[in-house]
Amino acid sequence: MPDTRTVPAYNVPVRHSPDVCVIGAGPAGLSAAIAASRLGLSVLLIEKYGFCGGATVAGLSGTICGLFSSGKWPTQIVFGFADEFYSALRVRKGVTLPVEFGRTLLVPHDSLVWKETADDLLEASGCKISYHTQFIKAFEEDGRISWLLLKDPGGQFAVKPRFVIDASGDAEVVHSLSLPTSFGKDGQVQTPTMIFKMGGVDMRAFLAMDPAEINTLVRKAHDSGAYRLPRHHVYLFPLPNMGEVLCNMTRITFPDGSVPIGTCAEDLTYAEIEGRRQAREYARFLKEQVKAFCYSYMVETGTQIGIRQTRSIRGKGLLTNDAVINAKKDKNAVAHSAWPIELHQSEKVHIHYLENDFYDIPFETLIPKDAVNLLVAGRCMSAEHEALASARVTAQCFGMGYGAGAASGLSLLENIPAHAISGRQLRDWMKEHNLKNTNEK
Ligand SMILES: Cc1cc2nc3c(=O)[nH]c(=O)nc-3n(C[C@H](O)[C@H](O)[C@H](O)COP(=O)(O)OP(=O)(O)OC[C@H]3O[C@@H](n4cnc5c(N)ncnc54)[C@H](O)[C@@H]3O)c2cc1C
Repeated sequence: MPDTRTVPAYNVPVRHSPDVCVIGAGPAGLSAAIAASRLGLSVLLIEKYGFCGGATVAGLSGTICGLFSSGKWPTQIVFGFADEFYSALRVRKGVTLPVEFGRTLLVPHDSLVWKETADDLLEASGCKISYHTQFIKAFEEDGRISWLLLKDPGGQFAVKPRFVIDASGDAEVVHSLSLPTSFGKDGQVQTPTMIFKMGGVDMRAFLAMDPAEINTLVRKAHDSGAYRLPRHHVYLFPLPNMGEVLCNMTRITFPDGSVPIGTCAEDLTYAEIEGRRQAREYARFLKEQVKAFCYSYMVETGTQIGIRQTRSIRGKGLLTNDAVINAKKDKNAVAHSAWPIELHQSEKVHIHYLENDFYDIPFETLIPKDAVNLLVAGRCMSAEHEALASARVTAQCFGMGYGAGAASGLSLLENIPAHAISGRQLRDWMKEHNLKNTNEK
């Protein structure tokens, strides 16, 4: 029976009182909701769009990065929920074979299959989903979150969860509580990209091309003055549907080179419009200058501009640049990664590989300082700017989310405040409850 009391002063009905409420259904929120549900907890997953996937699907980022090592012979080193989801996509023919990305591999996927797979896994876990629902604000009493103000097309309502996981990407819950967050490096964040898909591509000719060849053609076309192509280091990946190619080519900055901020509607509006214009221009370039694309057409752009970075929480722990570059191992790891630092700056893309090694993401990077019934997961984790440019990718967001979901159960079922949980304790708990962490096949 729903709790129909109202919240005094706000006069909004209390619609749900779940054990765990997860805000955001990107890879981090999806996996958090599934882990908590698998522990038998009642879980409500809140998502403003009508589907899961976040930047991966709405932003069309389109590939699973972070599963493989880097080096001459990359091998899969990340498992757990990331591998479960990858396998589910594979069964539905929603992925291609792994594709080379510099010295590592990634896995392109189909967005529709991603959405369907997420729906089915959530349903099987018993999680309640609320699409088209916007988180507005969290309220605290005695140092713990007591209720959340949400809005759906019918109006505002309240949820009274026992535990909250902020997987909004933008640390919206943390920010609404005025807990500290930081913004990139002295306010400078990575550049957004409007990703798009081309159809009708001659795949044989496309797959025969060296990626460096396309970069050279882009630069040449831009320098000729016939095209406006600000980014010259571009990524093109084959998609599972025959003749479709995923194009991660654009770079959105203001004319003065400054970067639109992903938490400001005015900047986002500029980025969406400029993103679509650039996508059209790159599509024109592909069609006119790259033989494999001569009969191609633009299928779609992302539902929204791809935002790589906004707020990072100031957590109990911090993923440092040093830890990533020097492949540091941590006894309190919640996930591990060999994805390179892939930093999208206004001038260029900078890539730093970890050769035949990996680093650990400490669980403490998901704990807002002193939090009792709150964790974050995904790209709003506590990390230095360059470190985040590695840890933010899909496989690691799956790992962080699954760990945070498991930790919500540890907190509620064993009565331990979030800030007192250690990564090592969490790993033992996960093992005991048959929830695989990213090390486990
Ligand atoms: C341009 C670009 C290219 C990328 N390329 C790749 C790639 O090739 N491979 C790869 O692995 N990764 C890639 N990434 C990174 C990856 O897509 C993201 O870092 C990852 O999706 C982050 O996951 P997340 O769950 O933390 O957040 P998100 O994916 O951002 O999900 C957050 C979710 O929360 C929802 N939400 C936010 N606020 C609210 C609210 N107030 N109320 C309700 N719902 C809310 C959003 O709608 C969204 O669904 C790319 C990212 C970008 C931007």
